[in-house]
Amino acid sequence: MQIINGKEVSKSTRDKVKVMVNDFVADKGRVPCLAVILVGEDPASHTYVKNKILGCEEVGMKSLTFRESKDSTDEHVAEIIKSLSSDETVDGILVQLPLPKHLDERYLLSLIPDCKDVDGFSPNNLGLLAMNTPRTVSCTPYGVMELLASTGVDVAGKNAVVIGRSNTVGKPMAMLLLNANATVTVCHSKTVNLKEITSNADILIAAIGIPNFVTEDMVKEGAIVIDVGINRVDGKLCGDVDFANVSSKCSHISPVPGGVGPMTISMLLYNTLMAAKYE
Ligand code: NAD
Repeated sequence: MQIINGKEVSKSTRDKVKVMVNDFVADKGRVPCLAVILVGEDPASHTYVKNKILGCEEVGMKSLTFRESKDSTDEHVAEIIKSLSSDETVDGILVQLPLPKHLDERYLLSLIPDCKDVDGFSPNNLGLLAMNTPRTVSCTPYGVMELLASTGVDVAGKNAVVIGRSNTVGKPMAMLLLNANATVTVCHSKTVNLKEITSNADILIAAIGIPNFVTEDMVKEGAIVIDVGINRVDGKLCGDVDFANVSSKCSHISPVPGGVGPMTISMLLYNTLMAAKYE
């Protein structure tokens, strides 16, 4: 069994982005810039935003952070997004999710122009991915594809099972695997006989949000297991996979922390650079 080292793959991705950022600056005479809007006081969101800003620094990109009060109105957040949308020095706009419940997430995200949607969440960007002509791909599933590539195993023809069907992880994940010629099954909370389906997976992706949900009896011998989940149990981070028991059955497995998490930010940095390149 091999543990997929997300930190290592992430570092090599960032090294490549850094070189490309240098080339971009030399060529265009300006530095790519990511703007992040954070509303409220969710501690996990503050940590994610801090790491995104550090990531920008690491690869030589600029970042702008808007930390707004938890009582901010839709109008206030919309004004910030609109002003960043028309600012030519800003290449990527990211609204950190989840937003406080009183805000209209769908409306606010719809204000981000497709060319600055570095999260790849917009209907157009998701649609382009569905048509296998991707422009900006959601960072987390994109990072998972990089982790799969790092195993050296060809995804084509494999039985891939994704547990989770969110617009931000599960669905784009399934589309990426399909585009890579895997045979893909998407499972969710209403799936019947989940264990029967996951037991046939050569590649199993867990994006559920329930600690240790995927147990040994759900996993095929020799499978590649990627754990997208980030859960906190007794103050400690854990994934959706019961790592201690599942790992001995796998050919490759990604840990939490140190698996998918670092990749998400690396792909965000890559997406921001690509956005800067759109004229
Ligand atoms: P979500 O809540 O939007 O979706 C969860 C999915 O799990 C749903 O589609 C649901 O149908 C499915 N599900 C729930 N209960 C189930 C069950 N009993 N059986 C089968 N399927 C079930 O969550 P999300 O935004 O897609 O995130 C999923 C997990 O990934 C969370 O833990 C989240 O924190 C984590 N996440 C990690 C990263 C990262 O960078 N590593 C990024 C995004 C999300």
